[in-house]
Amino acid sequence: MKIEEIEKELTYKAKHVYEEIDEKEKEFLEKVAKDYIEFLSVVKTERETVEFGKELLEKEGFKENDIKKGYFIYRNKFLACWRIGKRPVTEGLRIIVSHIDSPRLDLKLHPLFEDTELAFLKTHYYGGIKKYHWVAMPLALHGIVAKKDGRVIKIVIGEKEGDCVFTICDLLPHLAKKIQAEKKLSEAIVGEKLNVLVAGIPIEDKNEKVKKRIKLKFLELIYKKYGIKEEDFVSAELYLVPAGSAREVGLDRAFVGGYGQDDRICAFTSLKAFLEVEDPEYTNLILFMDREEIGSEGNTSAKSRIFEGIIYNLLKKAGISSTADTFFNIMTKTKALSADVTAGIDPNYIEVHDKLNDAKLGFGIAVSRYTGHGGKYMANEAHVEFLAWLLKNWDENKVVYQVCSMGKVDEGGGGTVSKYFASYGMDIVDVGPPLLSMHSPFEIAHKGDLYMTYKAFKTFLKV
Ligand code: MN
Ligand code: MN
Repeated sequence: MKIEEIEKELTYKAKHVYEEIDEKEKEFLEKVAKDYIEFLSVVKTERETVEFGKELLEKEGFKENDIKKGYFIYRNKFLACWRIGKRPVTEGLRIIVSHIDSPRLDLKLHPLFEDTELAFLKTHYYGGIKKYHWVAMPLALHGIVAKKDGRVIKIVIGEKEGDCVFTICDLLPHLAKKIQAEKKLSEAIVGEKLNVLVAGIPIEDKNEKVKKRIKLKFLELIYKKYGIKEEDFVSAELYLVPAGSAREVGLDRAFVGGYGQDDRICAFTSLKAFLEVEDPEYTNLILFMDREEIGSEGNTSAKSRIFEGIIYNLLKKAGISSTADTFFNIMTKTKALSADVTAGIDPNYIEVHDKLNDAKLGFGIAVSRYTGHGGKYMANEAHVEFLAWLLKNWDENKVVYQVCSMGKVDEGGGGTVSKYFASYGMDIVDVGPPLLSMHSPFEIAHKGDLYMTYKAFKTFLKV
């Protein structure tokens, strides 16, 4: 072989999505991105994602617990949907699992207080946040209040044009020298001080003995509008999330910026792909999991046994005896994608990245053969036979992908839900678009990666 041939034939070169697709596909990509931005702008909690999914599924003719085209919702925070394939369920499934919870600020159980004629709500953060991200920015309130009489009151404040927003105030630099500037970044903003400013006008009253009049005014307002009393906060799930719409980022509009792309970008793309594959060979199953960001604890998480219940149910409906034996057999024939975002290389922090192995924005869906930390602790590592099968399939269908790691060895690490699903015996690998500013209120994804994630899912569900 000549040197030129060796270079051309034997070396590996990553491909940029925009150099691999034609004008027609670029047009389609823009349409996908537009729909995604719309979705991301309004769907900001796990409950809202389940609602969005349910509405779309019903529009497409899916029915709750239907044997052929069905869906299942658990506690309004977990969604599964399936389409029975040409082959029987006993020959295995094609599963894509993502998570629909994102880091946020939850209201405390007794959140309301007044101090110095200002009213605040106390919060307790959920998931891995950098606390300094959440101060001095507009925040919206999303969630529900479950009343003792059985009513569930839905609340979204801060998203519509003309809505008020909330905020957590930061200290001015003039007075922050000792209390913040000289501290470590992780200690400068204290979790207990993430109190949200919510009111500042006293209740109209002639009786001057009445104290905490700002707090009373807030309670009056919220009671009038929603019928909520102070006591009702104990049975409320109210989250503070960044207010406002997702946006296109960059003069060339290459990126999507917005909150909660980890991991709703995979929820959106997997559901879109699923709905478009109308006649799959194997049974398709899409799962939206909750509680991933705090270690998959609880009965709506990947560590719960809901997944098993769904498979047993599918078997029962197909008239197949749902024994542990059958279940295990199906699992060994099942192929799955753990769809979750990964870290893209940020050239400003190149010291934490391995340039040769980490994911680059714009180079397609990232395949993380393993996650974990240290000596691959807590990692599910995909078997290479499965990986080779998957990549061949993607090559044949012109999916642009990159196989990568996340960060330098011993630099840190992270996990996904893949290890819990791997424990059933199925083949599963972590895939998803790389993000910049991951876990921040304004995460960045490349449109090319968004599109290739959708295309990769669609291809996977067909074979
Ligand atoms: Mn994630
Ligand atoms: Mn995450």
